[in-house]
Amino acid sequence: MDFSQEQILRYSRQLLLNEIGGEGQKKLLESNVLVVGAGGLGSVVLMYLAGCGVGKIGIVENDRIEVSNLPRQILYTTGDMGRNKVEAAKSRLNEMNPDVKIEIFEMRLNEKNARDILCDYKLIIDCTDNFETRFAINRLAVENNKPLISGAVVRFEGNVMFVVPGKTFCYNCIFGDQSGSNSVITCSDAGVLGSIAGLIATIMVTEAVKFILDLPTIQNNLLVYDGLKTELRKIKINRDPDCPVCKKLY
Ligand SMILES: [Zn+2]
Repeated sequence: MDFSQEQILRYSRQLLLNEIGGEGQKKLLESNVLVVGAGGLGSVVLMYLAGCGVGKIGIVENDRIEVSNLPRQILYTTGDMGRNKVEAAKSRLNEMNPDVKIEIFEMRLNEKNARDILCDYKLIIDCTDNFETRFAINRLAVENNKPLISGAVVRFEGNVMFVVPGKTFCYNCIFGDQSGSNSVITCSDAGVLGSIAGLIATIMVTEAVKFILDLPTIQNNLLVYDGLKTELRKIKINRDPDCPVCKKLY
């Protein structure tokens, strides 16, 4: 792959990095990522994936844009209210970087459609906003043997993990015993500050870019950010040998 003059200019700040350079930029342009959820986390993840030139990006989302989304879902404008998120996202991202192919799935990821959607992608980024969906996506990622970056935010807090099926702990290893309990809160119940979603999302997308470039990632750790205390902690996590989701892989 030869770069066009415009690509050399567009990606010049990345090409300067030892960790990227021409080889890394080619890897990015030839890579693909599936983003599930195009809300507060997804907006930022999608913009940086497209910005840095990840060649193919899939978006799974079936919501429409509401006014309460706008403080953190910075992919959208007031004029987009009522539009499908996937369509608004696609047109914005195409304008941002025409090198990137955007594939949209206006649906929810489920047992029936997962295999067909996931088979074309090498990495999944879960940007959804509730526990139930994150459990389901984790299970689908493990079953289909796809690496998964999962992030969550609520109030002033957030966390990020990187699940590699057969290698690391999975989402269920950590949170499996909390499903159905009162500790399961969401942004729509408890609120969230938009910039916290932005911060967690930039960590997620950085891990995705490093993964594509074969650089070390946060695998085997849970990253926890507390925005009120301005504290970021990296916690080593072992897999749960009795986890019903991932134990069959070991
Ligand atoms: Zn597990």
